[in-house]
Amino acid sequence: MSRQDWFDRPDERTGEPGLRFECTMCGNCCTGPTGYVMFTPDEAGAMAARLGVSQRVFHQRYTRDTPEGRSLREVKTEFGYDCVFLDRSAVPGKAVCSLYSDRPLQCRTWPFWKENLHTERDWRKAARTCPGINNGPTHTPELIRLTRDRIET
Ligand code: SF4
Repeated sequence: MSRQDWFDRPDERTGEPGLRFECTMCGNCCTGPTGYVMFTPDEAGAMAARLGVSQRVFHQRYTRDTPEGRSLREVKTEFGYDCVFLDRSAVPGKAVCSLYSDRPLQCRTWPFWKENLHTERDWRKAARTCPGINNGPTHTPELIRLTRDRIET
């Protein structure tokens, strides 16, 4: 197999190629400085249906305009700017997505984003705020590449 990315080499702990990741439900990736969570029209439809509201109401209540397009809204909390769908009360000590099974692709593909995968340094930088990185099961290089290439980040 020809090596294509730095994460093709074996993980120092497991000896397997790829990267380890398992979400701890800390919520860090859904809060912090203000940012954008983009979504497609189909994803908006799925989220609206899940909430039992029309797409018009969904856009009014839960989204906002940004230079990049429409983004999910944020709510200022003691932790930073939480995604409007981040729920800190459902699971004690955890922060979970209240729309988890209908969350946008941008959320589904974290942390295997291009900006986190260019170099090992980028990956280590992402690990500073995401405790799920370098923990849990190994994701194969093939799966990581497939995930990485699903969106432009
Ligand atoms: S920052 Fe990482 S561990 Fe925390 S909720 Fe997000 S993906 Fe999970």
